[in-house]
Amino acid sequence: MTTFELATSAAVTGSPIYVHVIGNKVFTDDRVEDDSWPQHVVGSLDRATVVAVDVPDGQDPSYGASVDLRRLFGMVDEPTWIANGRAVQLVTWARTHRFCGACAAPTVRSAVHAAMECTACGLIAFPRIAPATITLVTRGPDGPDQEALLARGVEWALPMYSCLAGFVEAGETLESCVVREIREEVGITVGDVRYRGSQPWPFPHSLMIGFRARYESGDLVLQEAEIADAGWFRRDTLPGLPNAISIARRLIDEWVAEA
Ligand SMILES: [Zn+2]
Repeated sequence: MTTFELATSAAVTGSPIYVHVIGNKVFTDDRVEDDSWPQHVVGSLDRATVVAVDVPDGQDPSYGASVDLRRLFGMVDEPTWIANGRAVQLVTWARTHRFCGACAAPTVRSAVHAAMECTACGLIAFPRIAPATITLVTRGPDGPDQEALLARGVEWALPMYSCLAGFVEAGETLESCVVREIREEVGITVGDVRYRGSQPWPFPHSLMIGFRARYESGDLVLQEAEIADAGWFRRDTLPGLPNAISIARRLIDEWVAEA
């Protein structure tokens, strides 16, 4: 079993693996195509250092062989996918933090931190991570008749239903984010919010934080700008579900296995 260990230092040991980030696609090679391209240490996979390489626009050292992270899932094991996701996140962050947000001077990679540092005022920008809660809401007592709330987003290409999710606001706890998002999106009140696990979600820089909650009151009233449909489903009447890449599917599978 492969293991991935995250690194925040710039030290490269052993023979590195280079994850070339081409646009938002990845291509792994045992050598770097061009030494002048920016590099970021990602961590190590079974002791080999993984280095993300920021490939400039218009270059393609993969000759069309690069794949996006959604396609990569299923082609590699999970630790390797996590390492590739971190590579894309670090490169995306560096590309979007080339200038200081305070004084607009150029930034450089910090020698001390895994961060971009302003060359004029010293402001440090760490990799951006946007936390989002994702929740499976159940209604009724535990057992075979219990129902789960699943919804379909207006912008989803696939005809599937999933858990409700939303970004955490400044100054908000995770638990109050769960309650607020569900009230905003489908109009109901939930309680008994319980943490179930988390998942880095590099599209482009989220952290999905998974919860279970129980229905308390209210009727489904959909926020039409975001939710195309939502409903209560028993385990034996489940609609099309998201694939195994997402923590949503893990939350649903965990609930299904409880009956
Ligand atoms: Zn500055």
